[in-house]
Amino acid sequence: MAALTHRGFTALVSQITCEAFAGRKVVAGLVMKRSEEDTGNRCITGQQLSLHGNTVNDSHAEIITRRGFLRFLYGQLLEYEPGRPHPMFEPSTNGKLCVRPNITFHLYISTAPCGDGALFSPRDVDRQKASVDPRIRPPHEPIFSSNVQGLTRTKMEGGEGTIPIEAGFKVQTFDGIQRGERLRTMSCTDKICRWNTVGMQGALLSHFLEPVYLDSLTLGLLYDHGHLARAVCCRLGRGEVELDSLLPAPFRLNHPWLGRVTVCDPPREVQKTKALSVNWSYGDKGPEVTDGTQGICLTRFDSFSIFRAVPGKNVLDVETEF
Ligand SMILES: [Zn+2]
Ligand SMILES: [Zn+2]
Repeated sequence: MAALTHRGFTALVSQITCEAFAGRKVVAGLVMKRSEEDTGNRCITGQQLSLHGNTVNDSHAEIITRRGFLRFLYGQLLEYEPGRPHPMFEPSTNGKLCVRPNITFHLYISTAPCGDGALFSPRDVDRQKASVDPRIRPPHEPIFSSNVQGLTRTKMEGGEGTIPIEAGFKVQTFDGIQRGERLRTMSCTDKICRWNTVGMQGALLSHFLEPVYLDSLTLGLLYDHGHLARAVCCRLGRGEVELDSLLPAPFRLNHPWLGRVTVCDPPREVQKTKALSVNWSYGDKGPEVTDGTQGICLTRFDSFSIFRAVPGKNVLDVETEF
């Protein structure tokens, strides 16, 4: 998964001749596997929020990857015709569509996701339980070694790292942020944890699709089996009542196969990299480049062919205003 992602990223970047791309921070990719045989920056500021959904709020690599996955799902759904076989979807029992059972999705991130998944000292890493044998999936053995672990956390506007959601935290409002409240964005770990409960397809696609869960999660750097298991799924299974009994079927708490790369990726750039995000998803005509701190699209060609059907609503229209 790591090799596929890095190869894809290198091929994409080679198409872009701009020195702004020197250096990279975090690369993430989602790989679809058809059978057994078979990209991080920052967040916008509150002032850049758009009520029309025209701004990319969170440009951390794994979040951009899931955004590309949604675009892929929409594109695949548009090709579905009732009564005709589709390579990816089949009807489920409740009138929705589900992904065919032979198809699985695998997320790779070049380093631990921000938030709870990165909340341990790298010096403590001695439990390398990740299996490189494709037939063995080590069971999750979550570690809860301190009371700051397992909390939901947010990235803070203008800040580095993540801070815990405090008791009594109220959901932020658009007008509050316009009055100067600092925008807080959920950490990537918390978002992955959510995908492991309600699926990666999001609320809108849940009207049409059964939940789509990750089959595996692979990290490049900062891998710790116990800490990652806690952070991305197992912390939700600690209640007195089994979480699965509270979730309506087919929703469930998903425990993906966790793994690390065997050939380590070189450490990420330490010098300041530009807050640019290079994004691509299967079906796009070319890479899209967005500015992570402004949430706007910088590319001049149409990589979003499926959204052209809705004039005035695509990213390119916003771009022309800048
Ligand atoms: Zn992140
Ligand atoms: Zn788990």
